[in-house]
Amino acid sequence: MGTTETDPSVTVNETLASRVLIGRGAVGQVADEAARLDARRVLLVSTPSAATAADRVSAALGARLAGRFGRPVKHVPVEVTAEAMTLVEDTGADCVIEIGGGSAIGLGKAVARRTGMPQIAVPTTYSGSETTAVVGETENGVKTTHHALAVAPGTIVYDPDLTLTMPPGLTRTSAVNSLAHAVEALWSPDATMLSDALATESAAGILTALPEVLADPTGPDGRARLLSAAWLSGLCLSKIRTGLHHQLAHVLGGAYDLPHAELHTLLLPHVMRFNLPSAPAAASRLARVTGGDPTETVAALARAHDGPTRLSDLGVPRAELRDVAERVVAAPYPNPRQPTVDAVTELLNEAW
Ligand code: NAD
Repeated sequence: MGTTETDPSVTVNETLASRVLIGRGAVGQVADEAARLDARRVLLVSTPSAATAADRVSAALGARLAGRFGRPVKHVPVEVTAEAMTLVEDTGADCVIEIGGGSAIGLGKAVARRTGMPQIAVPTTYSGSETTAVVGETENGVKTTHHALAVAPGTIVYDPDLTLTMPPGLTRTSAVNSLAHAVEALWSPDATMLSDALATESAAGILTALPEVLADPTGPDGRARLLSAAWLSGLCLSKIRTGLHHQLAHVLGGAYDLPHAELHTLLLPHVMRFNLPSAPAAASRLARVTGGDPTETVAALARAHDGPTRLSDLGVPRAELRDVAERVVAAPYPNPRQPTVDAVTELLNEAW
């Protein structure tokens, strides 16, 4: 976390202990990483979208593979974790490897939370979950986040080749979701020199690599730069408390069960328009990165999505926007501009 409460002139710069492998073909080293951890009974969690990579890792693990779980579900429902835990107990697993987007990584973290076992995360999107010590879990429709060092994967393997299959819509929205971590870090009251550096570099990387990747989705160089930039923005997320943008995403996502990356993408330009006039340092860094109006740059990226681009497209009832604003204002996340019910309702109406 950032600035201490006792002495505002002292900043605390915490970096989670993790070993990060990054590069084309890195997935070929996952089994060696398991051996390095002295894992003998590996549970492999993967989504169907990562089946090919998971088959490859299974073959390389050989006798170290204890079991496979192929059905992670978004928002990490506790019933699904219970199924995975049965497999852990039946197989005597001592390590979990998760391959996939934030949902697969969330399940790996939930297993680590219950067992303390070491984790190797192999992300296939830009969600950034692998870099944080937070896991969100859903029980009876209520999502709760848990903070514990034991849930942060100790090893992360980024292989851009695993992202080549991301369809254009997921590529765009997952990258803008990642950009949102950097933007929130820049205007966070927890910002430090380290988070500013990470956020500025990652925003620059995402905003230059994303258009290139959208023009050439299987170009490995652009994919590699985008994944590296997403790693840095994930690190920002691990260092700061998020603000209004993430609060809106949490409240709306939780209330209406909305798709995570698409929701972040459609909200971000609206929150930037709302916050940046009150966050001059963040605004000037982003203006340098974009070479123009940062809100307009992000709005253009968001508008061009070939899926839902408005809250109305996602089925959010307009009549309930004021209730959402009231919930946000009742306990606001730290944010550069104090939200009021009228102002947040107006922001949501614009996004609607
Ligand atoms: P996701 O993992 O649900 O994946 C979205 C879809 O894309 C799925 O259908 C998946 O199978 C598919 N997919 C993933 N990788 C692919 C690839 N390379 N090619 C083709 N298809 C692919 O979504 P996400 O956006 O990666 O993650 C969102 C989740 O992560 C949310 O639940 C969010 O709350 C969580 N998250 C948690 C943290 C944290 O710190 N705890 C941080 C960020 C996100």
